[in-house]
Amino acid sequence: MNNKAEIIEGIKKAMEFYQELGFEYLPVKLENSFQNTEHRPVLSEVEGTQSTDNPPSPPLRAMAFSKGGTGGFVSELRTQYSKHSKESALKVLREEIGDCQRCRLAKGRTNIVFGEGDPDAKLMFIGEGPGREEDLQARPFVGDAGKLLTRLIEKMGFKRKEVYIANIVKCRPPMNREPEEDEMNACKPFVEEQIKIINPKVIISLGRISAQSLLNTKIPISKLRGRFYDYMHISLMPTFHPAYLLRNPKDKNLTWEDAQKVLEKLNK
Ligand code: URA
Repeated sequence: MNNKAEIIEGIKKAMEFYQELGFEYLPVKLENSFQNTEHRPVLSEVEGTQSTDNPPSPPLRAMAFSKGGTGGFVSELRTQYSKHSKESALKVLREEIGDCQRCRLAKGRTNIVFGEGDPDAKLMFIGEGPGREEDLQARPFVGDAGKLLTRLIEKMGFKRKEVYIANIVKCRPPMNREPEEDEMNACKPFVEEQIKIINPKVIISLGRISAQSLLNTKIPISKLRGRFYDYMHISLMPTFHPAYLLRNPKDKNLTWEDAQKVLEKLNK
C-alpha cells in the first residue's frame, strides 16, 4: 500500500471507530483552527479609514459531542455538514452555553436567546441583543423591531424560517442598554460558532453594534453599511438596525438598497 492509501485507510478506520462510539462528526481539535479562517475585512476601502485587523475570539475549548468532553470540533468540518448535522451541531453549541454565567447579563435575563431559523440557511441576520419581548419568549426579533425585520425578510422573498437569526449577545442587557465590550467578548465565540456551523452565503448585520463587533471596528454604521466585507470568508453586509428604522423610516430605502445587493449576491 502506498502512503496515501494508508492514510486514507487510517482515516476510514478512525471514522468507523468514532461512528461506533455514537459520534456524528470527526473529533478534530480546534487548536489554531481559528487561525485558518482568519478574516481581514477590507475596511480600508471605507473612505477615511485604516485597514483593520480583525482577530477572532479565542477558540471555544470545551465543545464536544459527548459529556466527557473530547475537545472542540464542532465547526471543523462545516463545509461537509448536512442540514441534519448542522442542526445537531447547533444543539451541541446550545448545550455548551448551558445556563451561562459568563458575564453580568446573566443576572438580569429571563431566558437565553440562542437564535432560530434554518440551520442550513443561505442568509443569516445578526442583531445586537435581545430586548424585553425576546427575553420573555427566548426568541430573537419578536418585538416591534422584529416585526419590521420579518417584513424585510419576506420582502426579500424568504420565509422567516428559511433564514437564521441570531444576536451578538444572547442575554438581554438591562433597560435595553447597549451591550458592553466585556459582555460582547464573553458571548462572541458563540455567535462565531453559529456562523461557522451555518456557514451562510451572506450575513446581514443589523445596526452599529453588530457590524462594529463582527468587523472589529469603530467606524460608524452610516459609513459601513451598503457594501460587502469579508467575514470568515463569508460576505457580510452591514445595514441599519430595524429599531433605528422604526425611529427613522426615511432610511428604510437605504436598507432596502442593501438588501437588494444581498439578493443579487444570492442570485435571487
Ligand atoms: N434587537 C436586537 O438586536 N435583537 C433582537 O433579538 C431584538 C431586538
